[in-house]
Amino acid sequence: MHILLIEDETELAATLKGALQRERHVVDLAGTVAMAREAALCGLHDLVLLDRTLPDGDGLALIALLRQHNPGVPIIVLSALGQLPDRVAGLDEGADDYLAKPFALEELFARIRAVGRRPSGLNAETVTVGRLSFDPVSGETRVGGERLDLPRREIRVLAALARRIGRTVLRESIEMAVYGFDDGVHSNTLDSHVSRLRRKLAEAGAGVEIHAIRGVGYLMREIK
Ligand code: CA
Repeated sequence: MHILLIEDETELAATLKGALQRERHVVDLAGTVAMAREAALCGLHDLVLLDRTLPDGDGLALIALLRQHNPGVPIIVLSALGQLPDRVAGLDEGADDYLAKPFALEELFARIRAVGRRPSGLNAETVTVGRLSFDPVSGETRVGGERLDLPRREIRVLAALARRIGRTVLRESIEMAVYGFDDGVHSNTLDSHVSRLRRKLAEAGAGVEIHAIRGVGYLMREIK
């Protein structure tokens, strides 16, 4: 992959660049918002790793520009700002994932693989992951070709997660998908829909798991 690494800490930048190159990636390094703006113009990167505290501004301000030149590019924020409101701000700004520093390289690589597995963009095509296939328009769910009947709310949870395979979906977004804006949601109700869906998918052998990101949301991914 051709990766744009936006990071001003020299030592960390060199470590990351070296590690990514050993994984056969091509890495462009930008140490400031200004350099990153220039690098973003080419619009050819397959992935962006984005630091937040840069000498000339907050990296989150770059997300809109990066997407303008390269609409589908996955963006993973790497930041020492790792509190819940920081992570939510990053995801709300449009980042695909948010990894708090310090992190282990193995985890970064796992997250890079995860964003690489997502289906490209939002669309109405059937989502296939593991043995699961899900039609977001009809809500039809099949595991290994066999139809799996799910109640309406579990279908909506599945739809919210299946659109973003391998990426974190904010709890608020899933709640909105399941209940609409003003349905007086009790937050433990969502958890019980997710638990039932998770159990049914496991029992049917769908080959996917729903992973809880504590305090943020859920993500669905293929079991490897
Ligand atoms: Ca920094």
